[in-house]
Amino acid sequence: MRRKLVAANWKMNGSRVANSAWLSAFAAPHAPLACDVLVCPPFPYLEQTGMVLRGSGAILGAQNLAAHEPGAWTGEVAGEMLVDLGCRWVIVGHSERRQHYAESNELAAIKARRAQDAGLLPIVCVGETLAQRDGGETVAVVGAQLAAVLAVMSAADLARAAIAYEPIWAIGTGRTATPQQAQEVHAALRAQLAKIDRSASERTRILYGGSVKPGNAVELFAQPDIDGGLIGGASLVAADFLAICAAAK
Ligand code: PEP
Repeated sequence: MRRKLVAANWKMNGSRVANSAWLSAFAAPHAPLACDVLVCPPFPYLEQTGMVLRGSGAILGAQNLAAHEPGAWTGEVAGEMLVDLGCRWVIVGHSERRQHYAESNELAAIKARRAQDAGLLPIVCVGETLAQRDGGETVAVVGAQLAAVLAVMSAADLARAAIAYEPIWAIGTGRTATPQQAQEVHAALRAQLAKIDRSASERTRILYGGSVKPGNAVELFAQPDIDGGLIGGASLVAADFLAICAAAK
């Protein structure tokens, strides 16, 4: 039985004042959650968020890390620094990094490995464009993205981390993959892992991301291979994020 994981990706949003309001709303009394909850603010707010989350049961994560060890890499943030700030997780290979910063499958894989070496658990994002879906290439595309990671990291190591299937056409668009569409891809990713290591494949959490909202989370999370979600837009409102977390049992 895989415990579900729901992660908030605030992307490049927030301010000290806005975060403080979000964190107070998040910390307000609510029914106990039956899933792991992760909050990934922008780098400058990791310390603020981490301090408030301490004792709440939620975990702190980051949205990106450098591909390198600490050193002469101006403007970059090393995995070791994220650990120092209390992060447990880090997102790698998000489609916005791939699209706007030309991050390749190989670079995403190197970052996943770097995260692990620094003591972090990577959430490895994979996903296809609309053209690739329409062309029937979805499983091949996400399979290649996963294969690049498995070239540098064992399936057993990945089982301690997570994969996030995020169809690019569903991210921030309000258009969600149907539970069946998502389940199909999740099952294909798990089958790919099973070919290498069946036991690891059964332990690996595969999250879905792409316009998850309180209104569609229950059905998505009910699919047998959907082990939680990576939540962008809806995570910016604490009450919506909590409602999505409550849908993960
Ligand atoms: C994301 O940023 O990873 C994401 C899934 O965004 P949204 O929920 O807004 O589609």
